[in-house]
Amino acid sequence: MDVEPFLAEEEIAARLAELAAEIRGAYGDSRPLLVGILKGSFVFLADLGRELGPEYPVDFMAVASYDGASSSGAPEIRLDLRTEIRGRDVLIVEDIVDSGNTLRYLLQALREREPRSIRVVTLLFKPASFQGSERPAFIGFEIPPDFVVGYGMDLDEKWRNLKHIGKLIQNKTDS
Ligand code: 5GP
Repeated sequence: MDVEPFLAEEEIAARLAELAAEIRGAYGDSRPLLVGILKGSFVFLADLGRELGPEYPVDFMAVASYDGASSSGAPEIRLDLRTEIRGRDVLIVEDIVDSGNTLRYLLQALREREPRSIRVVTLLFKPASFQGSERPAFIGFEIPPDFVVGYGMDLDEKWRNLKHIGKLIQNKTDS
């Protein structure tokens, strides 16, 4: 496998500044709790959080990914928040929303804790594969349904630390 350039660091940084302005505008004086979904969102959260400013609290969760077949019960939360969210504004920070299944279960689980509001910001959104009913409130880039890596996103723990976002391409020698 190899990686071809898709979104450059500069493009990502420029879009993050716009996203931060959208988020600040939407919340007014409130500072939502930024909830990063590990592992993929850690780079995006670090950059978006610094763009938003130092008053925004941060916490993390990790959730087991589901495919469509095993989608009945509550999400399997592998790492839970340490923050009480009842009555608070919560902004989930995702690297990528594909089918939307992971997000649907996460939202269901967190809404049971009765936050004042819960919204989602995702850096990347694949409209062609999205099966949910609720689109994320804030979207960095809408992208085609190709597999991307870098800027926190991996394939089997590889490529996560790329500074830009790339698309995986098959090498002639792969098969
Ligand atoms: P969903 O539940 O929305 O189908 O999938 C969400 C998860 O699948 C993401 O959080 C991510 O872990 C993984 N995923 C989906 N598409 C991609 C992709 O293009 N690249 C990488 N690295 N992970 C992806």
